Amino acid sequence: MMDSLLVIVPHPDDEILTCGGWLYERQARGLPTWVVVVTNGDVAGSAAGLARLRESLAGLQVLGVRSDQVVFLGYADTGMSVDDSFLYGLFAEDDSSRIHLGRAGVATYGLPDHLDFRTRMYGRAAPYTRGDLVADLRALIGEHRPETIVTTAPEDTHGDHAALYWFVREVVSGFESYRPNILTALVHSADGDAAWPRRSGEDTAMTVPYCLAGYPLPISRLLTPQARLAKGAALRCHATALTADAREFLEAFLKRDELFWIRQADD
Ligand SMILES: [Zn+2]
Repeated sequence: MMDSLLVIVPHPDDEILTCGGWLYERQARGLPTWVVVVTNGDVAGSAAGLARLRESLAGLQVLGVRSDQVVFLGYADTGMSVDDSFLYGLFAEDDSSRIHLGRAGVATYGLPDHLDFRTRMYGRAAPYTRGDLVADLRALIGEHRPETIVTTAPEDTHGDHAALYWFVREVVSGFESYRPNILTALVHSADGDAAWPRRSGEDTAMTVPYCLAGYPLPISRLLTPQARLAKGAALRCHATALTADAREFLEAFLKRDELFWIRQADD
């Protein structure tokens, strides 16, 4: 579909950090847009995960994104390092039907009034397997065939963020005559969360982290004043993520612009 966008992110809040301002601008213009959150961000258990899903819906509502444009796949979040990461573990799995363990169980779940994708579509949760996640991503990408996909970058140091890119690439290359633009956004850089994004204030532009200095330059999408305000308000819905430790890092994503790296088909 012309000018359609599918945002696929690992955790509730990544949709705001990576492209919250762009989502606001698209909604204001009525452009076809969908947001897919792959895990429930439930590294601290199901209660925290469900709270984060609610915060995600609330934040997206602030941006004008309706809940029927939001899909929760309901997979697990088991930690950030490559060894702990749920999505990295699933991506590296040889047996596509082996069930992996999350903190809250072994199958997808969502909110009672906003079910996980598989339960909503088929009345039954998906077991935590590589094959099931690929099937869900394939169903969603195939249904919308968006012109552009935004997802997290393979250079991201959070295992879930890097692995999600490789899942999206795998699924997209499985389609015969469909090649979307793939844009990636960075959340956790190898510069370290304390160093990037720079704590230079909301009136400054994002900078390219040193770890990606040798890469082609990203696109910088300048945000309207309204979009910047809405993005800040949306981020403040994420009370669970905004711990005293994380606040400064998360708020550093509130800037004049948002950065996206264009991925070539043979990346
Ligand atoms: Zn994340």
